[in-house]
Amino acid sequence: MSLRAFGFAVVLSAVNQLCGLSIGVAEVPPDQARAILEAGNRRFLDGKVVAHTWQREKVVKTGVDGQSPSIGVLTCADSRVPVEMIFDMGVGDMFVCRNAGGFDTAEVNATFEYGVAALGVHTILVLGHTKCGAVMATLEGKPLPGNISRLTDALRPGIAKLREDLPQDAKLDAAVEGVVRFQMRVLIESSDLLGAAFREGKLRVIGGVYDVDTGRVAFLDK
Ligand SMILES: [Zn+2]
Repeated sequence: MSLRAFGFAVVLSAVNQLCGLSIGVAEVPPDQARAILEAGNRRFLDGKVVAHTWQREKVVKTGVDGQSPSIGVLTCADSRVPVEMIFDMGVGDMFVCRNAGGFDTAEVNATFEYGVAALGVHTILVLGHTKCGAVMATLEGKPLPGNISRLTDALRPGIAKLREDLPQDAKLDAAVEGVVRFQMRVLIESSDLLGAAFREGKLRVIGGVYDVDTGRVAFLDK
């Protein structure tokens, strides 16, 4: 190890001890993925983010060594949901697919297959968020210009079992959660590769909802 690398390792180790967990979270044990995400979101909420201090070193490391992210994320394109920021993650930590609404497509599915088969992704987080415009538009069901209806068509099955008697706000929250749970299932059911990895215990799929008002991620229990 070079003197510079040794110095960096010493500093990183010290910061790890301060934070109580690893900052370089690319390769995390499967049973710790959710806890690491929760801890990162807690640092984000508390204004104690640490990962971004180290981006330059992580660029160099992942540029040389390649990527080996453990955590994949399927989420919405909404600009209020900057995935790495809200989990206090950095370069090389997360393998992310986004579209408006955060739903599976053939290409999204193939991307996660690649992540699992070639990169070592063992946990996929399907992350919805409050006040999601795409889910809102799906609930409203009004005609949409251009190709936008492709989004609502894809999201509609996720809200098919929604209770009709809920107040408007609760209805949207329930719809967001419904979409997350539906997409968690679709990801696995649409892919022999992901399905097999899931059944063999090599892949976990977890769900969560990000609150755009508070910055908090609430993980869904199964
Ligand atoms: Zn959204």
